[in-house]
Order: sequence, then C-alpha cells, then structure tokens
Amino acid sequence: MPRKYPIEKYRNIGIIAHIDAGKTTVSERILYYTGVSHKMGETHTGESQMDWMAQERERGITICSAATTCFWSPENYLTKEKTNEHRINLIDTPGHIDFTAEVQRSLRVLDGAVVVFDGVSGVEAQSETVWRQADKYLVPRLCFINKLDRVGASFEHAVSSIYEKLTKNAVPIQLPLGEEAEMEGIIDLIQMKAFKFEGENGNDVKEIEIPEDYRARAESARLGMLDKIAAEDEVLMEKYLGGEELAISDIKKALRKAVIAYKLVPVLCGTALKNKGVQLLLDAVVYYLPSPIDVPAVEGIDPKDETKVLVRHASDDEPFAALAFKIAADPYVGTLTYLRVYSGKFEKGNYLINTNTKEKERLGRIIRMHANQREEVDEIFAGDICATVGLKNTTTGNTLCDENNPIILEQISFPEPVINIKIEPKTKNDQEKMGNALRRLQEEDPTFRVSTDQETGETIIGGMGELHLDIIVDRMKREFGVEANVGRPQVSYKEAIESNAEAEYKYVKQSGGRGQYGHVKIRIEPIERGKGFEFVDEIKGGVIPREYIPAVEKGIKEAMGKGVVAGYNLIDVKATLYDGSFHEVDSSEIAFKIAGAQALIEAAKKANPHILEPIMKVEVVIPEKFLGDVIGDLSSRRGQIDQTEDRTGMKVIYAKVPLSEMFGYVTSLRSLTEGRGTSTMEFSSYEKVPNNVAQEIIEGKRK
Ligand code: GDP
Repeated sequence: MPRKYPIEKYRNIGIIAHIDAGKTTVSERILYYTGVSHKMGETHTGESQMDWMAQERERGITICSAATTCFWSPENYLTKEKTNEHRINLIDTPGHIDFTAEVQRSLRVLDGAVVVFDGVSGVEAQSETVWRQADKYLVPRLCFINKLDRVGASFEHAVSSIYEKLTKNAVPIQLPLGEEAEMEGIIDLIQMKAFKFEGENGNDVKEIEIPEDYRARAESARLGMLDKIAAEDEVLMEKYLGGEELAISDIKKALRKAVIAYKLVPVLCGTALKNKGVQLLLDAVVYYLPSPIDVPAVEGIDPKDETKVLVRHASDDEPFAALAFKIAADPYVGTLTYLRVYSGKFEKGNYLINTNTKEKERLGRIIRMHANQREEVDEIFAGDICATVGLKNTTTGNTLCDENNPIILEQISFPEPVINIKIEPKTKNDQEKMGNALRRLQEEDPTFRVSTDQETGETIIGGMGELHLDIIVDRMKREFGVEANVGRPQVSYKEAIESNAEAEYKYVKQSGGRGQYGHVKIRIEPIERGKGFEFVDEIKGGVIPREYIPAVEKGIKEAMGKGVVAGYNLIDVKATLYDGSFHEVDSSEIAFKIAGAQALIEAAKKANPHILEPIMKVEVVIPEKFLGDVIGDLSSRRGQIDQTEDRTGMKVIYAKVPLSEMFGYVTSLRSLTEGRGTSTMEFSSYEKVPNNVAQEIIEGKRK
C-alpha cells in the first residue's frame, strides 16, 4: 500500500510553554480548527467537537494524547477548498519542569515546535529552561504570544522579553490588531493584510485592508522584518537593496530556510481563548516548520560495533528504524507504546528487533490517534508517529528496527531522582493494587523510581521534585483507584570520594569442611560527576581466575549501594582490580564477592569520602519592596544568590539553594511577600555538603 501523504507534507511538532501560558487552550483550538477544516461542510461537527473537548477538560482528561494526528491546508479558511493538505502530528510536551526527562524525550522526536507565551508576563522561568533544551536538540521553532486580550497584555513587551532573555534572532511577522479588550485580529506583515475572526468560535476569517491608524506601525515593523529575513538570503538581499518589490512567496521561502537552519524564529500572536490567530499559526506551522526530510538524518550506533556511527535518512527506502518515546496506560486498549518512525516502512503483524534488549517484538496492532477517535493502520512509513499495542519488552528510549539492519538510536540518559517519599497503602485492598499501579507509572516515566527500604521493608518512591511525586500519588488515586499515605519528602543524598586510594582484602575461612578463600587488591579513584561506576580488570596471568572477576565487580557495586559515611549510595567511582590470589579448592564466587565488597569499603574510607546533596536552581519573582527580606531568607537557607534583575515592575532573584532547605518554600515565600511572590526550581547538580550539615545528616540517620 503506498503512503497517503508525501513525507514533505508532514509536520511533527510540539507545543512548549510555561505552565498557564495557554498550551492546552492552543492545542484544543488547533484540534478544533483542523477538525472543522477536515470535515468542511458538516458544520455541526465543529461545534460538537468543541463541546466534546470542553467536557473532556471538565472531567480533567487531557485532550492531547502523547501524539495526535490532524490535517491542515493553509489558507483553506478563506478559499474553503481542501487542497495541499498537510498532516500535522501534535506531540504532547509536559508543562512542568519537574518532568525534564519527558520534555527532553518529546523534544527529541519532534521536528519543530511552537513556543507559547503569556502576553502579559512574556518570557517566564520555565519557558527559558525549555527554550535552552530546544536549543540543545536543535529544534526549529515559532513563537506564539498568546492572551493578548488580557488586561496588561503587550505584544511589544513580550517581544522585547524574547530578545532579552531568549534570542536576538526573533522576528515578528505579525502585529496584533488592537490589544487587551480591543484585540480584534491580526496584521500579517508578510502579506500586509489584516485578518478578523468572526462567527462562531472565530471560524469565519475575514481578510481586510490594514486600518489607517495601524498602517505606519505595520510598515515600519515590516521593514524591520525584511531586514532580518533578507540578511539570511543573498538573492533576496540583492533585490531588497535594489529597492525591488519582494514577492510574498520569496519572503516565505527565505524565512522557511532560515527557520529550519535555526537562524530566525518568527513571532506570531493572538488569543487562543478568544479564537483569534490560531488558523494563521497553523499556516505558519506548514510554511516555516520543517518536514522530516528537512531536518538532519538521525544517527545511531551499530550494535555489533559500538564505535561505528550509522545514519538513517527519512526515506521509505531505508531500513526501518523507530524510537519508542512514550509508554502510556490506556483505559481501553492497555499499554500503548508511541513510536517515531525515522526511516523505512513496516507492515503490521511482522517482527522487529529491539536493539536495546535484543528481543524480537511483534507489532500486532498499529494505531493513529486523532482528536476524538483512533484509527487502525496497516502500515507505517518514514516520518510517522503512531502508537502500538501489546509490546512486551520495550521501554521508553528503546529502538525498534529491521532485524537485518540493526541500529541503536542514541539513548537518552535520565537524571537520578533527588527526592524520596515513603508510601503506604491505606487499606489491605489498596496494597494489592498499589504495586501494580507503581509498576505501570514507572514504565511510563523513567525519572520516577520505586524501591524498598532494606531495613524497614517500606516502599519508597523517588522523583525529580515534590510536585512530581504529588502528581504521581494523585494519578495513582485517580487512574488506579489506590489510596495511599505518604511520608515527609526526604532528600536523596549520595556519597562520593575525593582522592585515590588502594585496599587489599583477604577473605579466608577454614573451619572444617570446605573453606572460603577470596583475595583482592583494588584501586579506586573519583570520576566525573554523573558517570556512576566504572570497573577495570587489570588481572594478568590468571592470579584470579576469569570466572571470579564478575563476582568481585558485583561485590564492589553492592558495597557502593550502602556507602561508607552515612549509608547513602556511593557514586562516581572507578575501581580497578589489579591483583589478588586464589585457592584451588576453597575459592568461590561468594568469597570473591565478599572480598570485593570489603576492599571497596576499606578503600573508600581512605579516599576522603563525603556526602553530596542536590542543589536546585531557584528563580523567585517578587515585588521590589520584599527584595531584602527574600534574599535574607534565601541566604539563611544556605542559598547563593547568582543574580537579580527587573522584569515588568517585579524583581527576579536567581539563586542556587540546597533542596533540603527548600521544603515548604512556596508557603513561606507567600507569607514573606503578602502572597505576591512566586518561585520555580529545578535540579542543578550534586554538591558536597558542608561539614556541620554532614554531621547533622549522619546523626539524623543514626536516630
Ligand atoms: P497551560 O497550563 O499552558 O496548558 O494553559 P491553559 O491552556 O490551561 O490556560 C491557562 C489559563 O489561561 C486558562 O484559564 C485559560 O482559559 C486561560 N487562557 C488561555 N488562553 C487564553 C487567552 O488567549 N486569553 C485569556 N484571557 N486567557 C487564556
């Protein structure tokens, strides 16, 4: 079966935003307008779709599944002809920064993004964080300044906050026709036309001349825009400097090229809630954001030789390769595994190989998710985003590919949890369901961990912040019907060493019967933060037989799990086994494991071991008059102030503060600032705990 939509008409995009900027509203409107346009002619469908979305929202269900497919023909709202249709896959990105891993995962599989801003507050803390991540993954993007109908909204101010905080390469290609209560429509600076959105839900788009009183402003904004676009295209520049009238199609072409090359970021505007501007935003997605063939080919490594880099181009003729980017529990079909297909094509019912687990998987059912229905599909092609049902051994980040042409697409490394909470089922009935719920949630979210306290047998959940775990506990209740009591959040401390050390351990037992004998000499050294553990085997001449060496490594690893200072996980150590001896009869794996563990403990004690704590990057926004108090309070929490600055009449403080000092901060900030202060934080790094604090931690642990 041939593909229905040519790959150059695909747009795999995500909407990223600060929480509350209007991501959900923009997504809803996109699905609504694309639904209306797709079913042009059945007028009532549009309305009922909007109703259906409102209902879903009331029930607290997110409209967007991990990826939703919709269709759009630019300018079709004017001509009412469905031509040149594009397939847009809207990939969900989480709004809160506690879910960094999910943000990264979704950024990795999309080809372009729309960044939504609040027209009153402009660039906020999390938009900045997500923007930097989008930079890291080289995601071409558009900006949409939303909420221009709100009191205090200013397009100009929002644009300058983008220039100031995010990029000088932003280029407004629209102006709002009025702001706040007078927000009536959009001025398109490329076509030099204005648009009004009338009728029910803004479906009736009217193209008008730019009103007289906006003309001068629009003309000067257009010149600013053309300066920037022409600078990115030689031919256009020549015409522009020569005073020639530039063709609209040439401007669009040059802008598209510059956006895809990360040189320019178009800025659009509107108000999703009041149904103004979203259709033009969809046009811009098609005009300026890349299709799968416009972005660099994906790279991976050869599973047979991990030093070899393999490339897969976005073409149906290449071997099949796809990345599993999200596992989601679905109430109707069970576990859905979302895939991004990078290359090749694949028919359902056949087998693929998971190159991370080396296991075969059969893709029995393939589903495409639309706004309010699912479509079963028989075949998937390069560029597709789809969900599959029934994969058993595939988790987030795994590669599924053609067995004969294996590749491992770059794995994403997820940060370790920084916070732990004890969790306890409320009733016996909850107990049974809790294990299952936690397992399912863990499958979905690689930054969420479940473990058991070795001493007390209690269940511990770990995550990227208090809010992250709050949401997990809440989901457990809503989606799985499990009620649980949770303890106080605990910081996830670690241990590390500062210097190199050596140790020797001989484990000998010769009391009747068969004895035990294991003898090792190891050297340990600190390695780069985040590297975890490395084991080097330097045994020569069989002084320790091959079969015992993995046992030594295992013993060392196990001992690291318990640390040497206060019982926390020892991390970032390279251990080298360089000598030892064995006994023909008495040596065993268990003896070498014990010797390895004891040697590690002795060596670590000599290597200046210490406790590490998670340090958070904190941003606090407050009215100026509270600046002194808030800085004083942060300092008393062992905070280090990096910088303060002005933002729309408020003061912003950037600081680094240990997580252990930040519990309940939101409440105490409120009381310090008469309820006006807001704050956000995200994990920054693990740092050494000062001695006096370390003493307290050790004592607290002993109690
Ligand atoms: P999200 O957290 O980014 O998904 O934001 P939502 O879409 O849930 O929007 C947050 C709040 O802002 C909701 O109360 C919306 O109704 C409101 N909102 C969204 N877009 C607009 C807009 O264009 N104008 C106004 N005035 N409010 C909006």
